[in-house]
Amino acid sequence: MCGIFGIYGHKDAARLTYLGLYALQHRGEESAGIVVSSEKKIMSHKGMGLVGDVFDEKSIKSLRGDVAIGHVRYSTTGSSISKNIQPFSVNHSKGHIAIAHNGNLTNAFKLRHDMEGRGSIFQTTMDSETIVHLLAKSQSPDHRQNLVDALSGLEGAYSLVLMLNGYLAGARDPGGWRPLCIGKLDDAYVLASETCALDLINAEYIREVEPGEIVFISKKGIESQKPFSGKKHSFCIFEYIYFARPDSNIFGQNVYLTRKRLGKQLAKEFPAKGDFVMPVPDSGNYAALGFSEESGIPYEAALIRNHYVGRTFIQPSQFIRDFRVRVKLNPIKDVLRNKRTVIIEDSIVRGTTSRVRVKTLREAGAKEVHMRVSCPPLRFPCFYGIDFPTKKELIASNHSIKWIKDFIGLDSLEYLSKEGMLKSMPIPKEEFCTACFDGNYPAKPCGRMSKCILEKK
Ligand code: 5GP
Ligand code: MG
Repeated sequence: MCGIFGIYGHKDAARLTYLGLYALQHRGEESAGIVVSSEKKIMSHKGMGLVGDVFDEKSIKSLRGDVAIGHVRYSTTGSSISKNIQPFSVNHSKGHIAIAHNGNLTNAFKLRHDMEGRGSIFQTTMDSETIVHLLAKSQSPDHRQNLVDALSGLEGAYSLVLMLNGYLAGARDPGGWRPLCIGKLDDAYVLASETCALDLINAEYIREVEPGEIVFISKKGIESQKPFSGKKHSFCIFEYIYFARPDSNIFGQNVYLTRKRLGKQLAKEFPAKGDFVMPVPDSGNYAALGFSEESGIPYEAALIRNHYVGRTFIQPSQFIRDFRVRVKLNPIKDVLRNKRTVIIEDSIVRGTTSRVRVKTLREAGAKEVHMRVSCPPLRFPCFYGIDFPTKKELIASNHSIKWIKDFIGLDSLEYLSKEGMLKSMPIPKEEFCTACFDGNYPAKPCGRMSKCILEKK
């Protein structure tokens, strides 16, 4: 997963991109980068870590130019090396190219293998670099046609922002897995993964970049081409369930309200007897609100989040059991003691965090713990950009719900049905990719997964 942002035609392009990335931080905490362009010169600043750590006043001031793109990258294992930090940029006979990518190309391995066979030299292990090679290979003198040519060879998921010789471009794959929207700030145009980034900089929401559409932004305004549209949509349903920020609108509709409806539907399908409903903060907050509203069971926030937990902290000198989970969420004993609690989770991936979490609730005195999950069991890996583990690690892929209930240590466990999930969505069910729940992959995953996912976004 990743967050992407781009702006054209603003004297504070880098600063606004910094703010946009700040709003998109939840989409990637591993690294951050900004590339700016002014009069055919490009400058960049990138680093490992959070946006606030990578940039300071000095680095922002040094990035002068009125076009910028930026990227935040999701934490993945094994590949957190600095040469992979995006945006990725190159100098080429056609000019400067910089790219920021959210998604995962399913044919990246094959494309790269073919190109390397013909002498191409790759600088990174990112699938996104493949796009730059394809751009450079296009024979057309028109940079717009270069982009159409490059994208026509791609399979899988991509939402992109690009800087091509001082122009800004945005593109979405024909299925539209990952979101991308267009905004306007005075005379400047903005592209962002989610609308929360537009809100922060006071930009007005214009519309989504449509699946299969390419937008070119220049002094002339927005030019649109739809060389790949008209295919079946495959919006990532997990964006609504977990990934996107609740204050964002993605795929044209609000995330918070959708999560609340998921919770209401869950209460209809699987009522629970409890003294109160509580969320696993923060991702379970909104489904828990919906569950409480629908069931009439009061809402309590019996787990309190420490908002200052960074990616690293000084470990306690003496071994404290489950420290990593405890430092983030602390149960309130006076609320939980001798109570039957209904706890709402947005999703269970490996089940390991939930297990420790439930143990701490019991230690805090909870008499019964009933868990309700606001999506169906996650059984299949994602090839389109969500950093799920392999099938082996997905607990629901290998075990029954009864087994998972016992493993986590619950009195009862129920998952929302697939039909119920689809019914709660703000757009028609045919528009979604639900492969992680049902294994129906809209684009053929490449046979060699470890190679296919050269780099997980
Ligand atoms: P588990 O109990 O499976 O170990 O963890 C479940 C928790 O992980 C849920 O609260 C859910 O919000 C969160 N989660 C779901 N998907 C992802 C993901 O892709 N990345 C991360 N870091 N957490 C996730
Ligand atoms: Mg969660």
